[in-house]
Amino acid sequence: MAKRTHTETTDKAPKPKTNEGAKEEQWSKSKRKRMRKLKGREHEPKKADTSRRNNQKPKKDTEQRNEKVHIDERNEPKGRPNKKTGSSRLQETFKARLSGSRFRILNEELYTTTSSTAYDRFSSNPELYQQYHEGFRHQVENWPINPVGSIVNRLKSHISDGKAGKIVVADFGCGDAELAKQLLKVQHKKKCPFKVHSFDLVASSDLVTACDMSDVPLEKGSVDVGIFCLSLMGTNLADFIREAWRVLKDDGSLHIAEVRSRFEDKSDKDTFQNFVDVLADLGFECVKTDRSNKMFVLIECKKTGKAPKKDLEFTAKPCIYKRR
Ligand code: SAH
Repeated sequence: MAKRTHTETTDKAPKPKTNEGAKEEQWSKSKRKRMRKLKGREHEPKKADTSRRNNQKPKKDTEQRNEKVHIDERNEPKGRPNKKTGSSRLQETFKARLSGSRFRILNEELYTTTSSTAYDRFSSNPELYQQYHEGFRHQVENWPINPVGSIVNRLKSHISDGKAGKIVVADFGCGDAELAKQLLKVQHKKKCPFKVHSFDLVASSDLVTACDMSDVPLEKGSVDVGIFCLSLMGTNLADFIREAWRVLKDDGSLHIAEVRSRFEDKSDKDTFQNFVDVLADLGFECVKTDRSNKMFVLIECKKTGKAPKKDLEFTAKPCIYKRR
């Protein structure tokens, strides 16, 4: 017979039933659901929730955590292996949770440090970029729309027969260069009308140039359209806008897609206007604002002749992802 553990021998409460079905009946409804998932038995019919009927107190968080570890260990070998990785279902669940936590930590770090700190850290540990983007891609899958698509549609409207040469686009904080990939597929009169420069902290492909976007390797006045798609992340946000102003041509435009809550405050409707005013002080006039989407705002600006204020600083609220 297996040796009893210390907790079991000192436990004065009646012995728990070893029968698994009986044990499940003692769990709360949400716990039974969780456990069924972990054990890969989602398809089994749910048992009636008898815990309330039996007047059982809900378990304390620490009790639940301890129990979870115990049960997870016991079930690990039972999980069906993932054919690709050879990991059990349970190991896959833990990996997904770990990857989600890493993403949330890195995301918060990017929003709450200066871009030079982020650049130093990401360029010396490029695996952080991979970890961040694994989580980011997962988030994108759950969004009703991806703002990259909305920006591509807007940029197509810049195509005109009268323009000599290509439309030069600079994508600041491009991630996996999805924007460049989509724009380079566009054809007008049998040619692609776009030339795209894509910048990020780490170059994930040949399309991307690694740099801190507050200092991009482009000549002043060389770009037609600047893009910040969900990338205004560091605390020195004004530096990014000043850099866009520097590289844009005099008639250049800037498109910003951001999470609305970063600039809006439910209790104060004027907070979005604060950002519009900041853009004006940084040399941009807002010509179009689209707030029809619940999550994202799309802003189109024109470069003005007024040079950006040199010492203006601005930080938007961080976009912190919650654990699901
Ligand atoms: N624009 C892409 C990626 C958005 S995620 C898309 O919409 O799919 C935000 C990206 O901004 C990340 O890839 C992050 O690495 C990048 N980023 C944040 N701060 C940066 C900085 N200072 N310089 C360059 N890239 C930055």
